Amino acid sequence: MELIIRNVRLEDGQELVDVAVENGKIVAIESGYAGSSERVIDAEGRVLIPGLIESHIHLDKALIADRKANRSGVLAEALAVTAELKPTFTKEDIEDRARRTLLMLIKNGVTHIRTHSEFDPTQGFTGFEVIMALKEEFKDLVDMQVVAFPQEGIYKMPGTDTMMIEAMEMGADVVGGISYMDPDPKQHIDHVFELAKQYGKPLDFHQDFKDDFEGSSIEYLCDKTIKEGFIGQVSVGHLTSLGALEPEQLKPIADKMREAGISVMSLPATDLHLGGRKDTSKVRRALTPIRALRDAGVNVCIATNNIRNAFTPYGNGDPLQTAMLAVSAAHLGGADDLSTVLPMLTVNPAKALGLTDYGIKVGNAADMVLLDTKRVADAVIDIPDRLYVIKRGRVIVETKRTVTTNF
Ligand SMILES: [Zn+2]
Repeated sequence: MELIIRNVRLEDGQELVDVAVENGKIVAIESGYAGSSERVIDAEGRVLIPGLIESHIHLDKALIADRKANRSGVLAEALAVTAELKPTFTKEDIEDRARRTLLMLIKNGVTHIRTHSEFDPTQGFTGFEVIMALKEEFKDLVDMQVVAFPQEGIYKMPGTDTMMIEAMEMGADVVGGISYMDPDPKQHIDHVFELAKQYGKPLDFHQDFKDDFEGSSIEYLCDKTIKEGFIGQVSVGHLTSLGALEPEQLKPIADKMREAGISVMSLPATDLHLGGRKDTSKVRRALTPIRALRDAGVNVCIATNNIRNAFTPYGNGDPLQTAMLAVSAAHLGGADDLSTVLPMLTVNPAKALGLTDYGIKVGNAADMVLLDTKRVADAVIDIPDRLYVIKRGRVIVETKRTVTTNF
């Protein structure tokens, strides 16, 4: 065997098992596994989880918060500040920041990433080309899906429509959209669907990112998804406008989303920072209603979105820490809720991203993280060290921490 991890906890209350890996795949999961290997890790009862999935991040504009501040903290200023900075980005600059961000994520146990990579006639394809090259360079460390992302809108920014086609020709994995950046969100959605049909790719929209529901196009997106036969192939990020609805208004929309198989990426770090800024009392938490959507059977994921820029001036690339924001802000810490949080970083985004050999199961890719905690129930709230990060059977990160107490 290439690697054996002995005595791991996969589920609370069940016996410890050994996990054996050969040729990058999991070949056995059993207690007292008889095989041998040059590389054996004794987990001593610690929790082994499938690799964490960062299902929505912007690598190309990470780590720029120190260049120009967003003083109001609202979305409009975040967009304006970033649009001003983008023409100053060089290839080397984007590459350096994206690389540092990738390392942050990988060290925290991320084995799969979906990144939105933007372009527009002002900025050109500089960032997009860098991200496509990094996808190839990092392929043994992390699986990356690149979304062709028209951040400044398609109709609002003439020339972007042609660039969308070029980006798909250059190998983008997903067609991106941002319906609220164009005057007619429905026209924008239709446009993105035409590309998805043409290239046979899934879709991922920045959708209804606002505090109020008026003008939201999520229902149109659901209908369009079903009509075009894209059930299960559409994801949306933010969707904070649903947080403004009463349960009876929300229910039919959530049901429609489930029917359309639309996955939602809640982005608490950004949404909590930019949302509710006009509220002077009873300040909104400004998140998509994670629990209600989950209970309606919608596939809900939690993701980072931005790290240290005008949209989110903090973050360290740790999905568990991002999840902790949602745990308190979305009331996910209760007895019946906490166990649903880790899947929002693992199996749920795996479904959204269409991964087929994901999860700790014989025959799947050996993408796993050994946590320094002994209860699955504590996997999120401990924010445990990622002791070993394993990508296709290879240990790519080892974390060793020494704490000395002098008392
Ligand atoms: Zn985003």
